[in-house]
Amino acid sequence: MQEQAFFHEGERVGVLTTQPLGRVLDYRAPEGGCHLGAYVEVPLGPRRVLGVIWGSGAGDFDSAKLRPVNRVLDVAPMRDEMRQFLSKSADYTLTPLPAMLRLATRVSGLSDPVSMRKVLRAGDAMPDRMTDARQRVLSVVDEYGGLAFTSKELADLAGVTTSVIKGLIKQGALREEEAPRDLPYPKLDPNLPSKTLTEDQAAAAQALGDAVAGGSYGTTLLKGVTGSGKTEVYLEAVAAALRAGRQALVLLPEIALTAEFLKRVEARFGATPAEWHSGATMTERRRVWRMVGQGKAQLVIGARSALFLPYQNLGLIIVDEEHDTSYKQDEGVCYNARDMAVLRAATCSAQVVLASATPSLETWANAEAGKYKRLDLKSRYGASVLPDMKAIDMRAEQLAPSTWISPTLKRAITARMERGEQSLLFLNRRGFAPVTICRACGGHVACDHCDSRMVEHRFMKRLMCHQCGATKPVPEACPTCGVEGKMAPVGPGIERLGEETAALFPEARIAVLSSDLFGSARALKARIEEIAAGEADIILGTQLVAKGHNFPLLTLVGVIDADLGLQGSDLRAAERTFQLMRQVAGRAGRADKPGEALMQTFQPEHPVIRAILSGDEEAFWRAEAAERQAAGVPPYGRMAGIVLSGPDLPAVMDLGMALSRNDMPLRAIGAQVFGPAPAPIARIRGRHRVRLLVKAAKGTALQDAISRWIKPARLKGDLRLSVDIDPQNFF
Ligand code: ADP
Ligand code: ZN
Repeated sequence: MQEQAFFHEGERVGVLTTQPLGRVLDYRAPEGGCHLGAYVEVPLGPRRVLGVIWGSGAGDFDSAKLRPVNRVLDVAPMRDEMRQFLSKSADYTLTPLPAMLRLATRVSGLSDPVSMRKVLRAGDAMPDRMTDARQRVLSVVDEYGGLAFTSKELADLAGVTTSVIKGLIKQGALREEEAPRDLPYPKLDPNLPSKTLTEDQAAAAQALGDAVAGGSYGTTLLKGVTGSGKTEVYLEAVAAALRAGRQALVLLPEIALTAEFLKRVEARFGATPAEWHSGATMTERRRVWRMVGQGKAQLVIGARSALFLPYQNLGLIIVDEEHDTSYKQDEGVCYNARDMAVLRAATCSAQVVLASATPSLETWANAEAGKYKRLDLKSRYGASVLPDMKAIDMRAEQLAPSTWISPTLKRAITARMERGEQSLLFLNRRGFAPVTICRACGGHVACDHCDSRMVEHRFMKRLMCHQCGATKPVPEACPTCGVEGKMAPVGPGIERLGEETAALFPEARIAVLSSDLFGSARALKARIEEIAAGEADIILGTQLVAKGHNFPLLTLVGVIDADLGLQGSDLRAAERTFQLMRQVAGRAGRADKPGEALMQTFQPEHPVIRAILSGDEEAFWRAEAAERQAAGVPPYGRMAGIVLSGPDLPAVMDLGMALSRNDMPLRAIGAQVFGPAPAPIARIRGRHRVRLLVKAAKGTALQDAISRWIKPARLKGDLRLSVDIDPQNFF
């Protein structure tokens, strides 16, 4: 049945609101009628809420009581393909539709009338007396060909005071007008000259450009080591989308959204694109949202939620560093932006490019199976080569107690300092020490609200819970046995490594890069840029530094504990370690100086360590794929996590038991349920958490079975249930 596209005044319409109600509500179309997809404001009880015209009304509500839609908002209606995308992603992630709509409307001021501001254009009259200053103003107006400016902008561009502008208005040489405050983004020019691409870069750019020009859906894995020119190549795909008159989206992990990156884009296309990230102001966000919807932002560079912007004509989505774990949101609406990008593209006939030096096994397998195309960039651009990678066998090194830098690593750092080059020491552990134990009884300090161990942060002089953020002073006496003066830090964190490094290299400039040492992502990025410019000799970093930054002076990477992450029950542990190590190694020797990566390990013969050192990536993936296949786990099987939480443990457990007993809908598709068991973190902010894991074969109707399974669950009082399809965290 053809959907009705316009509703006349008084007709019944179904409105999806952002409120957590189980269903679409019936209203009457307002005066003047409304289009399918229109953003509207509707009365709900005593309030007015945001909604979207989702279709015809269901007709099951007393028409005498039906209330009219208050008004239609002054924004472009939601397109059919966006409604489809929201419905499909809601079905896939088992998220209620209103929550999906909230994700797609996370801007304030959408329901405000379009706000206006005063702008100036050329007037009809000439000023009676021409001065230098007046001449400058008029030539700016002329030069920008009729573009409108605020009085302040015009004064700045012409280098005059606003009183000069006022004089020109009075004389009729400038005309005041009202214009919408949210301005379109400047036009990007895809035909500016690009860099001269190498042969395999050019071939990849051509293949992607052709796919984009073809105008249908497709996904391509673009694989190449850091520095091989993946960014150069996908910017050409963006150019192809712009030439075809379509919009493009480049998704980056939040931390990689740097000024450096934006400058590169600007250099390629001659103007700045729209930016979408958590640091953007409300005004900027509103401008992006509105302009994307009107097709007046051709290119968006954004973090994962940019996927839910109301594109008018999206033709290309790039997911850079596609393996990055920050694409997976695992609180609230649990979704993986990489997978949702594929879904989004499929609903609007767009191309997806998944770029990575170390793709996720999911993506690698999809390429193997022929579902995705694959393009490889074989070498690094220019003189830079992959660093030499070696293991330091820690069993053969002499280390003083409570120190972690081996003599071999120390010599390598010294050599770099003598040559004026940078070294990076990588340790994926924040804080000073991961555990604080009592030397009398062996007990450790745990968080009062969670079940996690507290980590000492010496710069704050406190212990901190990495789960809930609670802090407390390091206790004098052991909380378990009461003995005083025996509490001691055990193991290294990045801050402790900082102390050791400072003691070993007193003359070195040391920079510690850990997210919690910076007040904001902006401050951290600024520091990273200083370091790239050479303002440090030794850089100490956690996971953060593994992302796309370019340190031209860096020639040595020392991995303090390559074994971290090899242990544990996480099914992705080996994959994560492999990716992290390759990425970190990719930091060294990006410019013209060859780099070296040294990995401290107690198990140099471990298959993951061996695969990293040998550089035989395909062998690693094949081995890992075979293991997952044998175990029937993702990507060769399907999983879902159900987390139940509440303040009262027995109540949470009871609900878990009830679910596990009544698993008929799951058994009907041959799925198994494990648990209830304490969730990986069994208590967060005073709420007990219990998890059930569902495992099913590939190709089964998992979501459908799960929704039938959890439907009867009664969430009494403060109990909560959340579903995580394809969970990423197992530890
Ligand atoms: P990746 O995205 O694979 O890490 P980039 O695209 O960032 O690689 O390229 C690494 C560096 O090499 C960048 O500074 C980039 O400008 C430069 N580069 C890559 N290819 C070329 C080229 N064909 N011509 C000039 N510079 C290039
Ligand atoms: Zn806590």
